[in-house]
Amino acid sequence: MEYLYRTNHILMLKRFLIGILCAASTLTVHADEGMWLPILLEQLNIEDMQARGFKLSAEDIYSVNHSSMKDAVVLFGGGCTGEMISAEGLLLTNHHCGFSSINDLSSLENNYLRDGFWAKNKAEEIPAPGLKVTFIISMHDVTDSILSYVNAQMDEATRAATIKQRIANLEASYKKGTHYETFVRAFYYGNAYYLFVTETFTDIRLVGAPPASVGNFGGETDNWVWPRHTGDFSIFRVYAGKDNKPAAYSSDNVPFKPRYHFPISLKGVKEGDFTMVYGFPGRTQEYLTSYAVDLTINSTNPNRIECRDKRLAIMNAYMLGNDTVTLQYASKAKGLANAYKKWKGEKTGLELNDAIGKKQAYEQLFQVWANTHAGKDYRDLLPQLETLYGRYKAYAELIDYTSEAFFAVEALDFASDFESLISKALADTLSSEALAQLAAQYKTNAAGFFSGYDKRIDREMFATMLELYSSRVQPELQSPYFKTTAAQYKNNFTAWANAIFAKSVFTNPEKLDAMLTNFSVKKAKKMSADPMYRLYSEVAALYAAQIKQYVQPLQAEINILMRDYMRAQMLMEPDKLFYPDANSTLRVTYGNVKGYTAKDAVQYYYMTTDAGLEQKYKAGDEEFDLPKKLVELVEKNDFGPYADASGALPVAFIASNHTTGGNSGSPVINANGELIGTNYDRVWEGTMSDIMYDVNRCRNITLDIRYTLFIIDKYAGATNLIKELTLVQ
Ligand code: ASP
Repeated sequence: MEYLYRTNHILMLKRFLIGILCAASTLTVHADEGMWLPILLEQLNIEDMQARGFKLSAEDIYSVNHSSMKDAVVLFGGGCTGEMISAEGLLLTNHHCGFSSINDLSSLENNYLRDGFWAKNKAEEIPAPGLKVTFIISMHDVTDSILSYVNAQMDEATRAATIKQRIANLEASYKKGTHYETFVRAFYYGNAYYLFVTETFTDIRLVGAPPASVGNFGGETDNWVWPRHTGDFSIFRVYAGKDNKPAAYSSDNVPFKPRYHFPISLKGVKEGDFTMVYGFPGRTQEYLTSYAVDLTINSTNPNRIECRDKRLAIMNAYMLGNDTVTLQYASKAKGLANAYKKWKGEKTGLELNDAIGKKQAYEQLFQVWANTHAGKDYRDLLPQLETLYGRYKAYAELIDYTSEAFFAVEALDFASDFESLISKALADTLSSEALAQLAAQYKTNAAGFFSGYDKRIDREMFATMLELYSSRVQPELQSPYFKTTAAQYKNNFTAWANAIFAKSVFTNPEKLDAMLTNFSVKKAKKMSADPMYRLYSEVAALYAAQIKQYVQPLQAEINILMRDYMRAQMLMEPDKLFYPDANSTLRVTYGNVKGYTAKDAVQYYYMTTDAGLEQKYKAGDEEFDLPKKLVELVEKNDFGPYADASGALPVAFIASNHTTGGNSGSPVINANGELIGTNYDRVWEGTMSDIMYDVNRCRNITLDIRYTLFIIDKYAGATNLIKELTLVQ
């Protein structure tokens, strides 16, 4: 009986997926929109890609039989992409992707972030501890091997446990006998599964970075904006053991020999040219309902924007003109600002594009289809989702202001790290040596924390953010401890901040150090009564309970319904090619170089040049200054072989590739498979593409490789690096 069910189920699934693929092959796919799986290009996209100008084959992009482009693309540092550009493991990515490593390796004496860094030879390359890069060895469709084990009668818990077990088995079997890692990811809200075999290197060294005035030119003013002139690149090298396999840092390690590296073309692009971006897009949500989009536009984004507005204003005020604070907070502020500005652009774009209205119109069509669809009953799907999102919305303030306001206070977040130490000490099961060892580890971590910490900033943050939390989270959802303590200070949050920062050990390195010395059960008790720790633990415990009780069950129900909704959409539109949402797995997106109309009468050209550098340049400005030598080169038009036919120095260009966060640092490739630039951003009017792509205004921004090479060669004189590259004419 079970066997029969499984056989039928597999058949059904096969029919379903084959249905999608067959439909695809008869379709004229008009990509631009879409982040495609490299292993499906042959079936789904290659004809369209070639029709748009691509001259190579799907095998050139992804192959398990021979080296291909995929062997030159890496997940960089967890959240970005990088590419191999030499036979000796040289890696190109964005400056903003290397930013935190460059920041960590900088000091007031050797301020690589501010001044740039160029290793003149391999011995000068600097190890970047904690940085890692991951290659994809292969990927496999394991949908059948997972979903054929579940059935419609199973309750969700059994279903989830069965899937978990299948995933564990598959991961173990693909990994067996290799030094690779394996993991499985769900696609299409759990309607498909793919397994990835990966290889991760951890000895990564900094090779070159332009000064921030080049790498971050335009700062936050220009971030997410076109036209752009940011020289957003940095260079690292991957090191391996003598066997070319991953190895922990050692001075004996040697440059990694990649299976493939990109040839580089200096020919540049013109409007209409084919381009393709190969990388690791992080997260998109293209198939959301109107209720979810409404939540994003009208609750989540405005809430988080409000918090970050205030957080950034505080940090920026202290950083201005202060190198020490800038080194401590530049990376933190940059991370906050990047998402903050994107949420703003996304909200505006979704509103302008009438995203809610478009989704509603689609949902009406869906409902008509569902009402008459024979087979599984989807009639209640949308009404149920609407109810669930309505209930979810009631917790939006709690979620957003706890994570973005309450936990914006570094001391509270830091105090939370001590939970495990305190509970281990209070359990009194560790030997005194083990406890001492653990406490010593905490001392080391504390030293790291305080080296990047400015108490004045955090005290102001505490006062501002807790006041915000208090005014935005519904009073009945706030922790009683929080409310009582605030009341003790008559809701004067500055007074509370002054008192708690004077008293707590978590804002005072000496006091904390003393407390961790000869750490004991008694000291653990004292630590747990520290006002900062107490505040953290009271609010966090209640929050965790609320999430568990109210939010997780809603989310779980939404997830199940979205699985059905996704599947039903595919059934409703058998002729449409659905691409899976981004989930930090390797994807290909392709399009053409194109300007765009931003608004009535405002038309943007597709490329920028040195002329814009000169126009934006403002000596001494925080965001628009440029190094003297660069200004001189630009004034003299001394661009070497990197000028275009008109004699101008190309800086950046835009195209219709569908990209997102995580695509930063991705190789941008021309029709011949040659590297022509590095992806680094999107245009303001198109930042909503994570939720709704619009071919008329969504553009990715690419740093032209000629500007990168000009900086390396003519500005920095790092000809040692140029010599390593494979330049093609
Ligand atoms: N700037 C983004 C990133 O940091 C790229 C994008 O979202 O387009 O990954």
